[in-house]
Amino acid sequence: MENPDTFRADVAKWLEENCPPSMRKPMGSEEEANWGGRRKQYANPEEKLWLDRMAARGWTCPTWPKEYGGGGLTAAQARVLADELRKIRARPPLISFGITMLGPVLLEYGNEEQKREHLPKIVRGEIRWCQGYSEPGAGSDLAGLQTRAEDKGDHYLVNGQKIWTSYANYADWIFCLVRTDPNAAKHDGISFLLFDMESPGVSVSPIKLISGSSPFCQTFFQDVKVPKKNLVGVKNGGWTIAKKLLQHEREMIGGMGFGLAASGGGATMEQLAKEYCGDDSGRIADPVIRSEVVQHLMDQRVFATTVRRSVEEAKAGQGPGAASSMFKLYGTEMNKRRYELLVKILGSQALGWEGSGFSPRELATTREWLRSKGNSIEGGTSEVQLNIIAKRVLGLPD
Ligand SMILES: Cc1cc2nc3c(=O)[nH]c(=O)nc-3n(C[C@H](O)[C@H](O)[C@H](O)COP(=O)(O)OP(=O)(O)OC[C@H]3O[C@@H](n4cnc5c(N)ncnc54)[C@H](O)[C@@H]3O)c2cc1C
Repeated sequence: MENPDTFRADVAKWLEENCPPSMRKPMGSEEEANWGGRRKQYANPEEKLWLDRMAARGWTCPTWPKEYGGGGLTAAQARVLADELRKIRARPPLISFGITMLGPVLLEYGNEEQKREHLPKIVRGEIRWCQGYSEPGAGSDLAGLQTRAEDKGDHYLVNGQKIWTSYANYADWIFCLVRTDPNAAKHDGISFLLFDMESPGVSVSPIKLISGSSPFCQTFFQDVKVPKKNLVGVKNGGWTIAKKLLQHEREMIGGMGFGLAASGGGATMEQLAKEYCGDDSGRIADPVIRSEVVQHLMDQRVFATTVRRSVEEAKAGQGPGAASSMFKLYGTEMNKRRYELLVKILGSQALGWEGSGFSPRELATTREWLRSKGNSIEGGTSEVQLNIIAKRVLGLPD
């Protein structure tokens, strides 16, 4: 392997030369993130340039194999890349459910044709994916799902409804759990299908959230024809893939606890605290807020270190296990505490909804605070994570 110091220096030099100035400023809110996709419009050409340059090196998916467009980096090299990106305060060039959820399971369970078809497009941000898991009667009890896919020879015919499909209104393709055997035990009759959201019979209706935005939708399927080649893994064997994907999802959501998510218009918590609660020669003037901020930053650091240790301890290629539930639980509860503290720091300036009395940064923080409430529900609720930890990690009886 290349000398780690040389690798770090090469990465830093490349980033210095290739990361455009406007991409070295943290995002003000989640909505500023680049999710790519067929319909993505780039108001800022530097955003597209940054994506294209990173994708050309495979660094949007640094550890994926080069043959599928990834960077081919080791986990240690990927951490160096992440460190160097952090140092220059670079924005992620691309955020996507393809990167964090679908890609890892395609690498494990997809056939060669599926990997060659879908992975490079995820790396380049060409296709935006959404997740068709939950249904009105199947959330925590996911295996209770009822969307049917009937075998029609050369294709499946899909009928049913999904709910809480985040960004379905912007997505190009969906990874979807369907019931292919209604007579089997409920975990045994499920399959994992991929299909284009522009297929005839797919319709989407956004749902408005407490934060005022509509990032998720009801998604309806009426006689949607899905080619057989879009089945991942074996027919009726989708539950194994579904569970593995959930582990990747929980790891990703738990990562919010690192405090790297957007908030405060790109300012750090310490900067905001000094600005809103007073700056006493470089220290946060309010001693109560000061100690709460310090405690929170320590928790964040300890959490990030623990996750890192766990990843190091996992054998290469093993992927996330039941420990992802511990990280999901702790990370999301910590992210919610982080927003509570940000709102406390902003004081009455966190009470705005719209209007000139509040800056865009203040308004964004209020809405992100409301959005954070969903963290302990999405990807499996905190209660369900506690059940998994009790049974699979601690080995307690049912
Ligand atoms: C912001 C957000 C984004 C989402 N995005 C997506 C998406 O893109 N795609 C998708 O498919 N889904 C998505 N979801 C749905 C999400 O996965 C479900 O909301 C979640 O799995 C919980 O299911 P439910 O809403 O049906 O709640 P329920 O399962 O009805 O749970 C209701 C309450 O009962 C508790 N409960 C349920 N079962 C147990 C148990 N066995 N033991 C103890 N307590 C229990 C739960 O913890 C919860 O408090 C999203 C949800 C949110 C909030």
